[in-house]
Amino acid sequence: MKEFSADFVWGAATSSYQIEGAWLEGGKGLSIWDAFCHIPGKIKNNDTGDFACDHYYRFGEDVKLMADIGLKAYRFSLSWPRIQPDGRGKPNFKGLRFYSDLIDALLAHHITPWITLYHWDLPLALQMEYEGWLNPKLAEFFADYAAICFEAFGDRVKHWLTLNEPWCSAVLGHGLGVHAPGRVSRDEPYLAGHTLLRAHALAVERYRTQFQAQQKGVIAITNNCDWREPLTGSEADKRAAQRAVEFFLGWFADPVYFGDYPAVMRERLGKRLPQFNDNEKNLLKGSTDFFGLTHYSTMYAAHAPGAKVANAVLDNAGLSEDQEVVLSSDPEWKKTQMEWNIVPFGFRKLLHWIDARYHSPDIYVTENGCALADVIENGQVNDPQRIAFLEEYLNAAFEALAGKVKLKGYFVWSFLDNFEWGEGYSKRFGLHHVDFRSGQRLPKASAKWYAEVIKRNGLLS
Ligand code: BGC
Repeated sequence: MKEFSADFVWGAATSSYQIEGAWLEGGKGLSIWDAFCHIPGKIKNNDTGDFACDHYYRFGEDVKLMADIGLKAYRFSLSWPRIQPDGRGKPNFKGLRFYSDLIDALLAHHITPWITLYHWDLPLALQMEYEGWLNPKLAEFFADYAAICFEAFGDRVKHWLTLNEPWCSAVLGHGLGVHAPGRVSRDEPYLAGHTLLRAHALAVERYRTQFQAQQKGVIAITNNCDWREPLTGSEADKRAAQRAVEFFLGWFADPVYFGDYPAVMRERLGKRLPQFNDNEKNLLKGSTDFFGLTHYSTMYAAHAPGAKVANAVLDNAGLSEDQEVVLSSDPEWKKTQMEWNIVPFGFRKLLHWIDARYHSPDIYVTENGCALADVIENGQVNDPQRIAFLEEYLNAAFEALAGKVKLKGYFVWSFLDNFEWGEGYSKRFGLHHVDFRSGQRLPKASAKWYAEVIKRNGLLS
């Protein structure tokens, strides 16, 4: 038996656009994802989040399903345009009430709410009128929105995440153009990323100066990173792998721990990387109460001057020409339905990397999981590969814990099958199966397995 600490947080996660639906209801404004999905050809099968999992109307049922598996914590995001339809000014009362009711339902079932303020559904008005995250003003709008949320929910919510994976907003939204707002550029990712970091810092400042003492919660950013394993033992490949992780995770984690970007980014990008002024550096430094990490996969990294990436999107390679790194896979590695490599040792190594670089922070894994081609057979969804995936990744986490990494919690992505961004409904990540026509939910075998893990607070082997 591998037992986790008594206070280990076992959770599952979702995000607003991926599950809520009700895109035109309850006074909600439009988001950049509403607009993006309605452009033909952007999303697989032209799927949209218009109805998604209909969670807006079914949240009571969903909370009961969470309670059934004994979930300790539920991580979800707030739709900014549901709260501020055009991203500024007075809040929409119905939007606040929806989240308030959800929070109350969770607490009534002894499930701790973990709120992400921004999981990519930017109010469309801010994109149209201000060019979204390219405009420095967005940071202040975000802080104002965050303050509305702290004020409305902070009496009951003690765990806040400002931004979900700003790397994705910057690279997928502004570099590769596969996410809203669909921009393709080599320089915009660094500009958008800069505003996102400033937005995080301002929101945290608001929380700390106006709310934290009284509400006694914690606030952090959550970043995504895949592991990069050196392709060979050469010094050049080792440096390439290190550089790739710094460009991926260091880009957003160094500023919130140390107040500035990694030196290697500054050296390689020169003027393409914006500068923080002294005030911004001070606000950023130490602006996260714990380390939020989402992790899915691993690739080999090799030093490759001038190399072009084979598949920047599929490999999560991002802007790897700026890094002079080329990525590859081991043919032995198993893959998920996303074609992402299943490499649990990469998770363990990444946890150690974070521990070493950021001086042993408390780490919460805010997402980990896999997409599989799940089907209902005889009224059941058997997903032994998901169970194996989660078991192997949790084993890697356990090894990291034994190595003194301060891992404090783990959230499965996802609680429900949902709208998987550019992949629409074709990829299922859930512990619960969703029939997207009827909205019906069905716990998969993995949900029952996870319930046992939570109950015994650990793994059998
Ligand atoms: C995102 C989720 C997404 C998952 C799987 C994460 O990067 O936060 O919204 O569904 O990856 O792609």
